[in-house]
Amino acid sequence: MKHGLLIDMDGVIYSGETLIEGADKFIGDLLKNDIPFTFMTNNSQRTRLDAVRKLKLLGIEVTENHIYTSAMATGKFLGDQSAQATAYVLGEGGLLTSLHENGISLVNSDPEFVVLGEGRNFTLEMVQRAVDMILAGAKFITTNRDPSPKKPGWNNLGIAATTAMIEEATGRKAFVTGKPSPVMMRYARKYLGLETAETTVVGDTMETDIQGGVQMGYKTILVLSGIAKKEDLSQYAFKPDLIVSSVDQIELPLKWW
Ligand SMILES: [Mg+2]
Repeated sequence: MKHGLLIDMDGVIYSGETLIEGADKFIGDLLKNDIPFTFMTNNSQRTRLDAVRKLKLLGIEVTENHIYTSAMATGKFLGDQSAQATAYVLGEGGLLTSLHENGISLVNSDPEFVVLGEGRNFTLEMVQRAVDMILAGAKFITTNRDPSPKKPGWNNLGIAATTAMIEEATGRKAFVTGKPSPVMMRYARKYLGLETAETTVVGDTMETDIQGGVQMGYKTILVLSGIAKKEDLSQYAFKPDLIVSSVDQIELPLKWW
């Protein structure tokens, strides 16, 4: 049986702009041993090329084929749901590119979907327009529900906050396409050509990577180099298959391979 990995980036490979020690060697080992993997990121703002460039600056050389984003999952999902779908988008480059690639028309009135991604360029006027569209019957999709880190100076508001704003204003619940949604967890696995039993998720966040992996029946590895803290793990009703301080501590081949 072949095996492969879905690997989160922030908190696993880098922290902000800093490489997590040993992450470059870990990815190098995967490449050297022809182990299939893709990075799996909820950030819908960046394009795949943006992600490749960021990794390259940190000394990790991969191609766009190694990147799977919530924007890609969202574009594919809308394309699968509806032929000739139309969408009004509150979001940026990565999301707009993916919707375009999946044949979704971007419109400013009467859309089938309102799609929310990360971004800093949309205005409250645009949010108001989106709210009116949802109230008029458009389906509300959000690329993920990642919370704000709640740290001063953080440059990302946290899409949970903008999603909540629109939910409150419309009384409608968003449909989430990014991690831990089975939509993205399943698309990313299929993208790698793996079966469920062949798939392992590596992530730093219990609520997204690990919960998504557990619910899909994938093996899961939690790294403690990001958001999750060891002392908090007892609060969760699910647990990862393996806990390591960082990817540097992952021994290949994995013990379940
Ligand atoms: Mg992360």
